[in-house]
Amino acid sequence: MNFTYKTNSAEETIVLGREIGRRLRGGEIIAYRGGLGAGKTTITRGISEGMGLGDEVTSPTFALVNEYRKKDSKLSLIHFDMYRITSGQDLETTGFFDYMDDDSVLAVEWSENIDDDLPDDCIKITINRLSDDEREVVIETCDGDDRFENIGN
Ligand code: ADP
Ligand code: MG
Repeated sequence: MNFTYKTNSAEETIVLGREIGRRLRGGEIIAYRGGLGAGKTTITRGISEGMGLGDEVTSPTFALVNEYRKKDSKLSLIHFDMYRITSGQDLETTGFFDYMDDDSVLAVEWSENIDDDLPDDCIKITINRLSDDEREVVIETCDGDDRFENIGN
């Protein structure tokens, strides 16, 4: 299923991310599409907030992977930047496959680089830049997964 939202500021994208985060159960892989400055890290900050893991999300550009956990939270958020990574050995070294479990949400920037290793049931979030401040956010889920319907209504 496809759900399309429009945001007019970074703050609105964070709010949308929060609502997405609140609807996650663990075990999901979020595969982002959208070029540099689209808002992938920004929406991830909202997702972290929605999962109850705080707003201190920064770009994993240098670390390749940042982990967000809290002592009292079952769920954790694992945020990857695959800009310099390709499927295969490279991807293995990020720990991508080891992080996959029912209590973790994996959020992947530049997921197009690891297409061959993405499961079919991942959630795809494409962010299109319409202008300096406007973004179209398209959330694509598997058949029947309507969790992200009517956000903000
Ligand atoms: P990416 O991770 O996709 O490279 P970032 O989230 O790091 O992108 O950066 C997005 C940039 O665009 C930020 O500087 C943010 O303030 C700006 N921006 C402006 N409008 C929006 C919007 N509607 N949604 C998200 N970011 C926006
Ligand atoms: Mg980023």
